[in-house]
Amino acid sequence: MRENDALTKEMKPLIDPFGRTIDYLRVSVTDRCDFRCFYCMADTMHFLPKREVLSFEELDRLCTVFVALGIRKLRVTGGEPLVRKDVMTLIASLSRHLQSGALDELTLTTNGSQLSKHARDLASLGIRRINLSLDTLRADRFAKITRWGRLDQILEGMESALAAGIKLKLNVVALKTVNDDEFDDMIRFCAERDMGLTFIETMPMGEIGADRADMYLSLTEVRERLQESWRLSPSSYRSGGPATYYTLEETGSRIGFISPLSHNFCEGCNRVRVTCTGTLYTCLGQEGSVDLRKALRTSRSDDALIDVIRSAIDRKPKGHDFVIDRNDNRPSIGRHMSVTGG
Ligand code: SAM
Ligand code: SF4
Repeated sequence: MRENDALTKEMKPLIDPFGRTIDYLRVSVTDRCDFRCFYCMADTMHFLPKREVLSFEELDRLCTVFVALGIRKLRVTGGEPLVRKDVMTLIASLSRHLQSGALDELTLTTNGSQLSKHARDLASLGIRRINLSLDTLRADRFAKITRWGRLDQILEGMESALAAGIKLKLNVVALKTVNDDEFDDMIRFCAERDMGLTFIETMPMGEIGADRADMYLSLTEVRERLQESWRLSPSSYRSGGPATYYTLEETGSRIGFISPLSHNFCEGCNRVRVTCTGTLYTCLGQEGSVDLRKALRTSRSDDALIDVIRSAIDRKPKGHDFVIDRNDNRPSIGRHMSVTGG
């Protein structure tokens, strides 16, 4: 893939109007997925025609421009990133920014279905940590939540990643009456394998053909319940992200809580997201977006692209407007989480 003009220039970092430095990019490489998790997608989904999706060359160029603008951490996500054909070619190409020291971290968020195939290659490319989304340890529940998935495949992928020396963090969406009786088991499961664990509240994103108010569980409530059986003490650890952390005194492990609805996490926001069509979202919880694909496809120089990115950062909103309202079934945000990749 071609080396980018932008890398050769002195760049001012990306700082938004609220003084937040933007140094973390999440890039979705596909909107497709091999699962249909019921809180994320509807049973029948319409995916983008291939021509709308950025090629690997375009994604690489885009990410490289962001790296030149001061992005230090790059997360590849989706849809399911590892189901995009030949995605390892893109990851291998992006890993040059790790080797050059321009990036501190190249990582991904995955459902784990393809991990056993790719774990060793990912480790050899310098991927040190991966977020693995897994909401249950019970095979029957897993099949229900994901509609299409098999738990044994994920557990195999998880073991391959650990064996390859990749650190894992489990992302668990807390779902009322679905998995809220297994959080203690999950804490033990993660502690035994030296894996991190983060609970996430359901966010009202995209039509899913179900009522989110029925599945919404406040993490304040989850934490209070956990405190009945575990000693949790607030941790000063910050990942630069939306999670607040607690240390589990019994195991010494750390548990994160991402609570966009019961706790507003925006003041320290350091990130932006790009979809696989090159749409830049400067806030997960707002509709506002900017098209980068046009600048990518119409000019060989990166100058237009850089101008569009900078002007979007200049308008990054202060925070999100998520609400789950019992009297109003509509999602706060029309797009599905699988569009921006969480
Ligand atoms: N397919 C990959 C995976 O599942 O890890 C990456 C994309 S997925 C959209 C990223 C994360 O978003 C997952 O941890 C998933 O559980 C979470 N997620 C999806 N829809 C959500 C929603 N409506 N509210 C909260 N989290 C959601
Ligand atoms: Fe796919 Fe991830 Fe959404 Fe589940 S949460 S449907 S694995 S994109």
